[in-house]
Amino acid sequence: MSTSVVWFKNDLRLHDNETLVKAIKHSTTIIPVYCIDKRLFEATLFGFKKINFFRLKFLFEALNDLHNELQKTGSGLLVVYGIPEEEIPKIVLRYKAEKIYTKKEVAYEELLTLGKVEKEVWKHHCTVETYSTSTLYVATDLPFALKDIPDVFTKFRSKVEHEVSVRPTFDKPSTIPSPELPAFSLPDFSQCGITEIHPDKRTAFPFMGGESQALKRIHYYFYDTRLISNYKETRNGLIGCDYSSKLSPWLALGCLSPREVYHEIKSYESIHGSNASTYWLYFELLWRDFFRFMMKKHHSSYLKKNGIGSSDTKAFNHDNTKLATWVNGKTGNDFIDANMLELKQTGFISNRGRQNVASYLCNDLKIDWRYGAAYFEQQLIDYDVCSNWGNWAYIAGVGNDPRKDRYFNIELQARNYDPKKEYRTLWLA
Ligand SMILES: Cc1cc2nc3c(=O)[nH]c(=O)nc-3n(C[C@H](O)[C@H](O)[C@H](O)COP(=O)(O)OP(=O)(O)OC[C@H]3O[C@@H](n4cnc5c(N)ncnc54)[C@H](O)[C@@H]3O)c2cc1C
Repeated sequence: MSTSVVWFKNDLRLHDNETLVKAIKHSTTIIPVYCIDKRLFEATLFGFKKINFFRLKFLFEALNDLHNELQKTGSGLLVVYGIPEEEIPKIVLRYKAEKIYTKKEVAYEELLTLGKVEKEVWKHHCTVETYSTSTLYVATDLPFALKDIPDVFTKFRSKVEHEVSVRPTFDKPSTIPSPELPAFSLPDFSQCGITEIHPDKRTAFPFMGGESQALKRIHYYFYDTRLISNYKETRNGLIGCDYSSKLSPWLALGCLSPREVYHEIKSYESIHGSNASTYWLYFELLWRDFFRFMMKKHHSSYLKKNGIGSSDTKAFNHDNTKLATWVNGKTGNDFIDANMLELKQTGFISNRGRQNVASYLCNDLKIDWRYGAAYFEQQLIDYDVCSNWGNWAYIAGVGNDPRKDRYFNIELQARNYDPKKEYRTLWLA
């Protein structure tokens, strides 16, 4: 029994958090830490930042909530600002920690950072133990070895949903033994080089970050309104808070466990009955798992122009002027422009909107899809490395779509999904 650091990353919750549960079980003292990686605020090769105001605000709210929840257990959250491989070893030394408990990673940069932290803390005889806390299914429960996981979603889904069970959730710890920690504090937006943006009343995502808000949203969407029972019919909507669950930002930061959502769907079905809609929410969570397992299987291929295993070079051009018209909602196509303005001004757009603007960038403007993915990374409140790059590669025809020539007819899509032009009027008027 010893002192351990729990290094929170995209698992900002107390419920169903195996990392935290295992740390408490094997340690006498716990130091809960979050490191705001200052590299997030630098521009990437594609010219965008990795985060902007909307997600940073949501992250700060989530950290605040996590600190409050930890305080209720007798602990708290120590937030540091810097580079994890420099900051985490300092904490290890300060508290003489022998072990770090943290989340497993699958994506390239996240793995690099984890590896660097591991190397640095090893110099102080501290080891790192990781747990998988982001998926519905545990990788070792899958009916295939990692290298054999089908690249086609339908094949993955049909086997997994029939042959594997979703494990039960871990209980929320009631007490966490921690010493007195330094006062909780967060940097200013300006310190991070981020300009604050006024909230836009038209937003489809007016919610705050944090585990408690996530659990409230589930309660609202499932039990207060029973919206989940019509999800399949409404999920292609474009306006307002209720056409879809809006769980993605909390899932992306790990304020919410997908297993918690799954078991809530099952509880709801046992009270109000199951239907195609309640099934469909689980189906979408399977997509989320799929992209995560695909990232583990194909690693950094998702960040390459030709994506996964495609040998023929796709003809993408690059044109900064056209890219800027797309980013700023000035392409001249009203459906695309309405979606791009919503994204720019709120940090959220619907799944239907994402598919259309992504297809437009790749197929109509013929721009390298990675610029689009990088812009989404900067803008989206729910940015998730696997879901974002996986979906973009899919639409660009270099990912997991068995059809490599998928093309969204934007005029037709606008007619079908915005027949009265209400959405376009909302954003373009
Ligand atoms: C180009 C593109 C980029 C995307 N980038 C992201 C991203 O960075 N982060 C992200 O969470 N989702 C991303 N998605 C998927 C999807 O658009 C969002 O998950 C969804 O719109 C979020 O709203 P919701 O929570 O109301 O979803 P709901 O329709 O209520 O779905 C429930 C949950 O299922 C999961 N889900 C639904 N659709 C998908 C999907 N296609 N792929 C993976 N998971 C899915 C999400 O976790 C979502 O919260 C992207 C889709 C496209 C086409």
